[in-house]
Amino acid sequence: MTPRVRIAPSPTGNLHIGTARTAVFNWLFARHHSGQFILRIEDTDLERSRTEYTENIKSGLTWLGLDWDEGPFLQTQRIELYRQGIQTLLDKGLAYRCYCTPEELEQMREKQKAKNQAPRYDNRHRYLTEVECQKFESEGRKPVIRFIIDDDREIVWNDLIRNRVVWKGSDLGGDMAIARISQIEEGAFGQPLYNLAVVVDDLDMKITHVIRGEDHIANTAKQILLYEALGEKVPYFAHTPLILNQDGRKLSKRDGASSIDDFRKMGFLPGALANYMTLLGWTACDSTKEIFSLGEAAKEFSLERVNKAGAKFDWDKLDWINSQYLHKVPAPELVELVLPYWQEAGYEVNLESDRTWLEQLASLISPSLIRLTDAIKESRSLFGAKLIYSTEAIEQLRKEGVKDIIQAVMNNLVNYSQLTEDSAKDIIKKVTKDFKVKKGLTMRSLRAGLMGELHGPDLIQSWLLLHKKGWDVTRLQDILSKI
Ligand code: GLU
Repeated sequence: MTPRVRIAPSPTGNLHIGTARTAVFNWLFARHHSGQFILRIEDTDLERSRTEYTENIKSGLTWLGLDWDEGPFLQTQRIELYRQGIQTLLDKGLAYRCYCTPEELEQMREKQKAKNQAPRYDNRHRYLTEVECQKFESEGRKPVIRFIIDDDREIVWNDLIRNRVVWKGSDLGGDMAIARISQIEEGAFGQPLYNLAVVVDDLDMKITHVIRGEDHIANTAKQILLYEALGEKVPYFAHTPLILNQDGRKLSKRDGASSIDDFRKMGFLPGALANYMTLLGWTACDSTKEIFSLGEAAKEFSLERVNKAGAKFDWDKLDWINSQYLHKVPAPELVELVLPYWQEAGYEVNLESDRTWLEQLASLISPSLIRLTDAIKESRSLFGAKLIYSTEAIEQLRKEGVKDIIQAVMNNLVNYSQLTEDSAKDIIKKVTKDFKVKKGLTMRSLRAGLMGELHGPDLIQSWLLLHKKGWDVTRLQDILSKI
């Protein structure tokens, strides 16, 4: 059997990290078994679904490298299929019309609450007569279709991650609503509800393995009953652990980031993020191996190696993985990646005329980058003729004798038509010798004068870059007039 799996996000928000991680596991499983990975957009909630979220989901998956083989299928374009499924259940006597008003349902819940009972529908309209139905209709009530759930039923499945799972029918909240009668298409169950649509789709798409978050376990119990009622074979189920924050709660916006877009804007690379998401719940056969591409992980991926326990989100680990990827990016590509951050910071960047210079700058700062956003601070002192000096740098420059050292560097600079690594070193050596000071003092002072800070990338390389723009001379002249 060639596996067919799917990711079925609801377009009610941007692509969430939890959904993306589920997509990663589905993708790895499909690729490992040379199966199919299908994208289905569950947009039947008309009020909350938006086209821009569908676009965001598609672009997020593409950015992460999770290509799909079929789809995207939109549930709103498949209503006829669900309608047939609902009709089958009605014809078999396994579903019925329930005419309870929202107020009646609310009262039911209030009473249950008062008795400390879990909220559930009490199945009161399960056996309405035709006459009773007509009476409700004549009152203008709009029914929902409910699927009968036997309270005494025990639902058991062999979960591919969690092993044997047992769920009681009585814990499923009573007969389940599977469709609302559409306002527009009177009597024609225009709006199928989640569990029904999922089962009809998974059957139609011949899904063999449903791999999704453990927050869907109760849905799985309901869906197994629907498969049986439709007389169809139940697929395999695998419930992945949730992604938790440091407090052990589900990762949310409050934790700093929750959508793939958030992570992209924070400067994470897609390969690194996909790599980290793979590790959120899965371990490679060699558990010390932590850096791998999706393709490499797919070669050895198996659901047996997915943990049952929730996966704690670890920012330090993600940062470390990102830096490993970032340090390997070739300079020309790195320039393209950091360009938007430089532009956002307001640095003067002209990609056409400065490409070589920018590539040299990218190589210089690359070892200090953890996230792409770090490029802003790491290259701040390398852009522009003007500089803002740190207090430390000013203090250094005002030390006794430092002005003369800087002046001497300037004087020497004119002797060289072209500054090279060797000539820059020569100047530092000569000035150090002439002033009989320690080389460290010359270096520190020069760094303060050229870069406005006492820490930063390699001094000689930085100087060479500044010199190509003539900014070393401008900056040193400027500071000499101020100290
Ligand atoms: N649409 C559901 C969600 O976004 C997923 C359904 C499923 O995987 O079965 O959570």
